[in-house]
Amino acid sequence: MSLRYAWSRELLEPPIHQPHWKNRLYSDFNKSDWYGMLASGRAIKRTIEEFPVAEQSLLDLDNILSLLVVPIFVIGEVGSTFWGWMALADCQQERCWSMQEESTLFTMAASISSALLRQQTEETIRYRALHDLLTDLPNRTLFNEQLSLAIPNASRQEKSLAVMFLDLDRFKTINDTLGHTVGDRLLQSVAGRLKNCLRLGDIVARWGGDEFTILLPQIEDNEDATRAAQRIQQALDSVFTFEGHDLYITSSIGIALLDETGGDTETLIKNADTALYYAKEQGRNCYQFYNASMSTKAPERLTLEKRLRQALEKEEFNLVYQPRVEVATGHILGTEALIRWQSPEMGAVSPGSFIPVAEESGLIVSIGEWTLREACRQNKLWQQAGLAPICVAVNLSPLQFRQPKLVEMVAQILKETELEPQYLELEVTETTAIQDIDFTRRVLQELEQMGVRLAIDDFGTGHSSLSRLQLLPLHNLKIDRSFIQELTENVKVAHIVTAVVTLGQSLGLSIIAEGVEKAEELEFLKSINCDAVQGFFFYHPLSVEAATEILRQNQAKMINS
Ligand code: C2E
Ligand code: MG
Ligand code: MG
Repeated sequence: MSLRYAWSRELLEPPIHQPHWKNRLYSDFNKSDWYGMLASGRAIKRTIEEFPVAEQSLLDLDNILSLLVVPIFVIGEVGSTFWGWMALADCQQERCWSMQEESTLFTMAASISSALLRQQTEETIRYRALHDLLTDLPNRTLFNEQLSLAIPNASRQEKSLAVMFLDLDRFKTINDTLGHTVGDRLLQSVAGRLKNCLRLGDIVARWGGDEFTILLPQIEDNEDATRAAQRIQQALDSVFTFEGHDLYITSSIGIALLDETGGDTETLIKNADTALYYAKEQGRNCYQFYNASMSTKAPERLTLEKRLRQALEKEEFNLVYQPRVEVATGHILGTEALIRWQSPEMGAVSPGSFIPVAEESGLIVSIGEWTLREACRQNKLWQQAGLAPICVAVNLSPLQFRQPKLVEMVAQILKETELEPQYLELEVTETTAIQDIDFTRRVLQELEQMGVRLAIDDFGTGHSSLSRLQLLPLHNLKIDRSFIQELTENVKVAHIVTAVVTLGQSLGLSIIAEGVEKAEELEFLKSINCDAVQGFFFYHPLSVEAATEILRQNQAKMINS
């Protein structure tokens, strides 16, 4: 019993605080039967006479002559739990509690329980809003909040503080090669190790992806931060083991200190991030303090951007073509054009690393236009060389897709290259398509009217549903490689893929599985009537010469069959 209110006509002892009730177990009073009744939702409603003698003496301590007790329940995710009780006690007369008094008390208990529920829900919501679901660490918002409190605190005590930005080296490779499940488990374990190696009061948060931020709220000098960074890197040194995989990872850390950089939350984080890029550039697995001479844009990125600008003029790009194969016949239905960049200074740069830079800097618009023209030109060349006409698919980046002149540009290129529109397919990723579905529909409708074929790329990565995509005039749906990778190992994934194939086909779409590498994967896809596949099992992306040869062979095969 933690609260008691008394009211009376004349002044009444005993006092409010009753030590003999407070913070005691039911069993101390031999009160398990009370507990049983209340927990099962019933009230206790008696005059003193009706209680056993042992209990009467307890009630006597408070002069209680009649007692009415009702339970308080809190409804949670797992059903309702018995949370406590409330009671009316009459200390002046042996009272027969009326039905109305009982129901009033039950009503009061119910409103307390809904207030408790609301409080709990609010706490859960607040917790969720401030923590990362996967690792249970504070998220960006909470980190920023804590940092903005720590800055004036440190200044007041004439101390410094450090903000660290930590990024796991090559995490993407682990995710891509071993799948998201292993990637997620790795992030959870990293989170655990980070927490354990820090001191009380230090804060580690998940910033997003494989990035973590760390706040050391009070340090004396660089040395303190250096030691912490070393401790962190040591903590990640030993092997992580999941599902039979031994994983070794390293991390890069950028550090910004309060005194040197001065400033606010945002500046500190930005500076730590900049220092992180320098750490990465130094060959990873190291830490780097921020200093004012570092430019805010990462050096690696700046160089990349600069070189990318010249790459078009210098004709450093070329296209490779990956055939798309019909599952039922093994015939090639078309190819996807994929861009390659051969930089004289950096060698082959993968689209995964330069497309995002091209996208951010706007260069993608001209690069994309070049790609489209080149792919259409090549496809027409194949036709002119006497090969049966096939479709060439070209990827549109998000920014490209949002160009007001996109439709015009496509029409112009088709005219220029004299390729009939049905031999061009445009791929838009799911994420791009669902960003503004009305806009997407308008653009796709215009393209469709022109006669161009349309596909959703990387389906499954944007967390949309097929019913939303149903509104779009589409021909093909490409299931993302991440699903195919897990297809034969994860029953759940197999179910999802089966459902996507069935549902997609019922919406009139032709389904293409991306990244098929193994015979088992193909077998499974065949068994669920998936229409087509693209992947290393049949063909890697091929140079123009190799693709031409393969298309010739394919044609001969088709004629013979
Ligand atoms: P995407 O459009 O989903 O293209 C498929 C990617 O998967 C290609 O990577 C391809 O080489 C790879 N791939 C195909 N089969 C397999 C397989 O069996 N196993 C594995 N591990 N990978 C497979 P790539 O060429 O590196 O391109 C990556 C992404 O870069 C593309 O994904 C696309 O989003 C983008 N991209 C490539 N070329 C262009 C382009 O010309 N314009 C635009 N905007 N984006 C492009
Ligand atoms: Mg694609
Ligand atoms: Mg894809």
